[in-house]
Amino acid sequence: MSALAGLASLSIDLDGVRHYRAIHGLPQKSADDPFLTAGLDCFLDFCARFGLKATLFTVTEDLQHEAVAQRLRRAVAEGHEIACHSHRHDYAMSRWTPAQLGDELARSVAAIKAITGAAPRGFRAPGYNLSEPLLDAIENAGFLYDSSLLPSPAYWGARGLVIALKSVGAHPSASLIGSPKGFLPQRGPFRLKRKGKGLRGGARRNLIELPMTAPMGLPWIGTTVVGSDQFGWQLTRLALRTRRPIDLELHPIDLTPEDAVDGDLLRVRKDLQVPHALRMQRLERCVERVAAARRFVPLEEVAQRLRAG
Ligand SMILES: [Zn+2]
Repeated sequence: MSALAGLASLSIDLDGVRHYRAIHGLPQKSADDPFLTAGLDCFLDFCARFGLKATLFTVTEDLQHEAVAQRLRRAVAEGHEIACHSHRHDYAMSRWTPAQLGDELARSVAAIKAITGAAPRGFRAPGYNLSEPLLDAIENAGFLYDSSLLPSPAYWGARGLVIALKSVGAHPSASLIGSPKGFLPQRGPFRLKRKGKGLRGGARRNLIELPMTAPMGLPWIGTTVVGSDQFGWQLTRLALRTRRPIDLELHPIDLTPEDAVDGDLLRVRKDLQVPHALRMQRLERCVERVAAARRFVPLEEVAQRLRAG
């Protein structure tokens, strides 16, 4: 673990606006995606200003849009890691058959290769929902690491409540509650093991897990760091107490200016109602605090060091 002390990562899951519209039961629009254009620009500008290399978990079907592909090429040119957040971002992926999973990952890997020239090394599951067949598929597709565990029972509970409340309304939510197991506090990073009985049960996987950071079970993510003042600041201080590598997970929505977003979505998203300048100020303060104590590296470097050490 000593090779890993002193490291921090900044990751972003490139969830487009359509996923949020689906979660809130809003009709889809065909215009350019503000999260993957204005929001992503803001993220890349922010990283450039701080000189830090991040990990971008990409939903690869969005790469068919030149506006998104072009920003990903910029990210590659600026030294960021492009990782996989599935091809279609289907929250039910954890329930698919091995054949469906293999096909989805092959498409996603090919789309990333077309942009970066190399296969992605990291995977993060839509909605953080993992399953044994999904882990098998990630391993078979040749990934080095997974980063889907958010060890936060508080997050799982809050999401379940939102989904339950939505399901009594007229517009069902497209998100999935998922298994609580992935949200239990645990140590990390670590080498994953196969679950279940039989010959292969308990065997070590050729796959490293880099969990997201949740000090005291509270998620250190954009929603808490950018969306709140004192609470987010205290979480950052707590996150820095561990000797393990830490990862701040963002979404483009955290950095998208509110005037780029349609009014119906703005009305239901409290996080977007926080003025953009204030959100950026909080993110800046957090990253400055972390950078004073640790070195920012892409998640792939953390995984490589863990494998080597
Ligand atoms: Zn996502």
